[in-house]
Amino acid sequence: MSLGRPTFFAMGVNLALVSVAMVYILITHSRDFANMIRLAEENSRLANLDVLTNLPNRRQFFDKLHEWLRNAARNDKRFVVGGVDLDGFKSVNDVFGHVTGDQVLIETGRRLKDISNEGVLLARLGGDEFGIILEGDVSEAQINDYGERICTALRSPFLLSNVTVQIAGSIGFATYPEAGTTPELLFERADYALNHVKQHARGRSVIFSREHEIEIRQFASIERCLRNADLDRELSLNFQPIYDVVRQEVVAFEALARWDSRELGRVPPDEFIPVAERADLINNLTHILLRKALACARTWPEGVRISFNLSVRDIGSAEAILKIITIIENSGVAPERIDLEVTETALMRDFNKGSECLKALKALGVHIALDDFGTGYSSLSYVHRLPLDKIKIDRSFIKEIETQENCRDIVKSMIDLCRNLKLACVIEGMETKEQAEILRGLGGRMMQGYYFGKPMPADAVPGFLAATDQVPANCAIVSVAG
Ligand code: C2E
Ligand code: CA
Ligand code: CA
Repeated sequence: MSLGRPTFFAMGVNLALVSVAMVYILITHSRDFANMIRLAEENSRLANLDVLTNLPNRRQFFDKLHEWLRNAARNDKRFVVGGVDLDGFKSVNDVFGHVTGDQVLIETGRRLKDISNEGVLLARLGGDEFGIILEGDVSEAQINDYGERICTALRSPFLLSNVTVQIAGSIGFATYPEAGTTPELLFERADYALNHVKQHARGRSVIFSREHEIEIRQFASIERCLRNADLDRELSLNFQPIYDVVRQEVVAFEALARWDSRELGRVPPDEFIPVAERADLINNLTHILLRKALACARTWPEGVRISFNLSVRDIGSAEAILKIITIIENSGVAPERIDLEVTETALMRDFNKGSECLKALKALGVHIALDDFGTGYSSLSYVHRLPLDKIKIDRSFIKEIETQENCRDIVKSMIDLCRNLKLACVIEGMETKEQAEILRGLGGRMMQGYYFGKPMPADAVPGFLAATDQVPANCAIVSVAG
């Protein structure tokens, strides 16, 4: 350009313009690129985060679990995996709505964070399920201590904007490498411990142990035998009388399943029913047992009712209910003579569906009884929303009734509750005359326990009914007031 030649001048201008344009393009592209990186980072953050609680989500939890395990295997390190599940959360959601449910989850995340230190990875795995990974060589005592602290934190009431709710949390832990050496197995074991504690000691924490290992093997063998069994032949029923202490007569029998396995011998229902539920075999069992129970009841006097236990899967779908209805209709037993028992825990799995299914059954004319009452959560808040006719007070309250005043108070208030709600009330598990007398004094009328009769085979029922003298009469009223 300094030479003043027009051609060079034009070339110079051209070059300058191109340079400016290129710098401009470079700057905008680099800005877009930086934005893209930011977006990608944000995307991956969101993809790995639970938006409600701001905790890592399921995906990140399992990514980390894989990573930790690889690390631990390489460096001979130990660590712990845990699963937390809220007890009573479903009913909070059902009764108070999802907004309240969300608040409970947010607050749960906050409480978990508050009691966890640096070396802990917390995640929300979905629903009311949380995951934990504890770094380092943590002793059993430390794990238990941490678990207890979580339980305590979750037990204290949740003061939300419009209500106060009370739930609890159960926790299962599994240690690496004892409980498993793959991420999947390790988590499965923590989950097993969790389900175990939920069934046996809700609101507590437990570490996967050798006993669990043995139990898993037993479960597997029960499941295998159940699958190979000729259930029509091997299943039978025992019948336990339910006694009306005012009318002084047997008013019903509860049908209790018995399984005489060819390979395992007699297996108690507490053991094979849960296996059948988990292995998805329960519907078939229920149908066989119900048919048998009703065939027996058909031979009894009209005034004697039959009580039959349904499991959670039996009230889980329209098909299952239809099948039960068909069996009842074909049985020749009037539906009005039949009580179907469901447990609170079964209903709580899916309150709305369960309650719909019960309504369908009730429309047929059968009565519905709530079994093991008092052992679940927030019982009182939903009892009136279920189509119930009867409540059965769990026998755990009766064991100590002679010595524990608070047991008497609890039973008394449950009896009063039934009266107020116009529900019949059966008390379970009295084994002695003294217990029966106290219960009668508290206003109890219908009773089912070893004192009035143990479960008996079908062919013993007519004799038992005939010999009413066998049934302890004159259960005197005693006052336990004061
Ligand atoms: P459940 O429905 O609460 O049945 C009552 C259980 O308490 C029976 O145990 C009965 O023998 C026992 N029992 C009754 N009175 C007393 C007493 O005074 N003292 C003591 N210690 N126990 C007493 P069983 O027959 O072993 O049944 C256990 C559980 O298995 C039942 O508890 C029920 O949950 C389940 N079950 C039994 N039969 C069936 C069935 O046909 N279907 C389903 N889904 N579950 C069943
Ligand atoms: Ca029952
Ligand atoms: Ca019961």
